[in-house]
Amino acid sequence: MLEILIATKNPGKVKEIKEILSDLPLKIITLPESDRSRVEENGRDYFENALKKAKFYGDKYGYITLADDSGLEIDALNGKPGIHSARFLGENTPFDQKISEILKMMQNAKNRSARFRTVAVLYLPKSGKVYKAEGIVEGSILTSPQKREGSGFGYDPIFKPEEFSESFSMLGEEVKNKISHRSKALKNIKEIIKSELLGGSEMVEIKINGKRLPANKYVYEVFKSVIFALLGTLKNIPEIETVEITIKKDDKS
Ligand code: IMP
Repeated sequence: MLEILIATKNPGKVKEIKEILSDLPLKIITLPESDRSRVEENGRDYFENALKKAKFYGDKYGYITLADDSGLEIDALNGKPGIHSARFLGENTPFDQKISEILKMMQNAKNRSARFRTVAVLYLPKSGKVYKAEGIVEGSILTSPQKREGSGFGYDPIFKPEEFSESFSMLGEEVKNKISHRSKALKNIKEIIKSELLGGSEMVEIKINGKRLPANKYVYEVFKSVIFALLGTLKNIPEIETVEITIKKDDKS
């Protein structure tokens, strides 16, 4: 089975990535708790940072590796904090403080448009191949924080996504994870995994307790041989009149 390492120590990210990729026939590997290494995110853009993480852990552990990097881009601040989102005012500064500084910097700003951007990278250590996917959610910066306790993180209390009337924090995880920059980038990565690593979109539908078990075209080749061998045996049993086998094209859901 295809194994993919997730290059993050953030349990929230691991959970989200596992959920999005859960219907693919692959095994998700996480970094061992004993891993104390730290990759310095000093690239010129999100792609360089994500690639740095993917390469570091991919080369270290030998697995195909998925890494991402994100940030908040505020137009009135010329795209800041951008790739410096985590380190803005210092990595250990509480987000309440970072948020009030941003609101102060934007006191007179008429244009409050902003976006969250994620770049996700898949790195194959054996061939050195790199795949890239991006996800963006457009929105605006509120004039004061809207925070729901225990919901969201980082700049979520001041970011209101387009077509919604509340901040990311108020919208809650379920809604946020459906529309977020990260989930969009990960869904694009999922399509790349399906087409480049799992042999395309042809799928055999097998259901166990009503739950779809996806299989790729290599698995299908094996099934095909088994099915034909089985049919060869069945045709010699006079009691069996018909046998039906359904092979469906992937519905891209
Ligand atoms: P990362 O690269 O995904 O770890 O994100 C870098 C920084 O961007 C985080 O430390 C946050 O400050 C900010 N950020 C990224 N995604 C989000 C989000 O979904 N909500 C709020 N802040 C975010």
